[in-house]
Amino acid sequence: MGSLDGKRILVTGAARGLGEVIAHRAAEADATVVVTDVLDDAGAAVAADIGATASFVHLDVADEASWADAVATVGERLGGLDGLVNNAGILHMGPIETTPAEAATRVLLVNLLGPFLGIKAVTPLLRAAGGGSIVNIASIDALAGMNSVGIYSSSKWGVRGLTRTAAIELGRHGIRVNAVCPAMGNPEMVNPWADQIDVERYLNGVPRPKLYHDEIPVAPDAEDAARMVLFLLSGDSRSCTGSDFVVDAGWTAGPY
Ligand code: NAD
Repeated sequence: MGSLDGKRILVTGAARGLGEVIAHRAAEADATVVVTDVLDDAGAAVAADIGATASFVHLDVADEASWADAVATVGERLGGLDGLVNNAGILHMGPIETTPAEAATRVLLVNLLGPFLGIKAVTPLLRAAGGGSIVNIASIDALAGMNSVGIYSSSKWGVRGLTRTAAIELGRHGIRVNAVCPAMGNPEMVNPWADQIDVERYLNGVPRPKLYHDEIPVAPDAEDAARMVLFLLSGDSRSCTGSDFVVDAGWTAGPY
């Protein structure tokens, strides 16, 4: 029996990257998984790869009507829901001075409004189930600032605030809400922005990357973040709510 035995878990942005890893690991822990994304073919392929305990549902997290459709489908297919992982996210890199308002708005819509709408949409199902667990994927950029991530960092700091408010409001219904702050997800999220940043300085500069590469023995990856998500979805974390769980191998602990 896995740690998520019998739990029905919806993961957003699960067609690739960290969301895909979370979906696989949740299924291996005996959860029934709803893989959701705007990438229909890739998302359906992830669900097919997992097998009979997973299914794909189209979901644009920035669209409230899309949430309503997805939640209705989940209710029909699974009869309810026990957990939500607000994982979908997008990145924009570049100086504040040259970031278009449209690009900044899109980041906020997906990364911050998305989890807000998700919490709102699934709460009736979690309440009907007698409680549940919501995990919001933030970032180490929600713990500190960094050049080139002004709007992304702002969206992720917002996710931490949303997490606390939701935990306070929903605790009475047995619903826990936590944030995970990983250092690493899918490198493919960052790579397309390489020409927007000083890559040499980003990867090898001071103080955080130097600390990370020289003084910390472990390079955190998506598997590390997924393990934390599974803990927060499971009953093992029953006394954890309204908190941040940092998965960064000490990157943000401070300078050496
Ligand atoms: P990724 O780009 O591989 O995955 C993001 C997924 O979100 C994609 O499948 C994409 O299609 C989906 N998505 C984008 N917009 C969407 C929308 N409107 N509705 C539904 N789905 C949408 O990147 P990833 O690294 O796997 O990112 C997962 C999460 O981890 C994100 O919240 C990201 O901010 C966070 N994170 C990533 C890193 C990193 O280094 N990549 C570090 C810390 C945190």
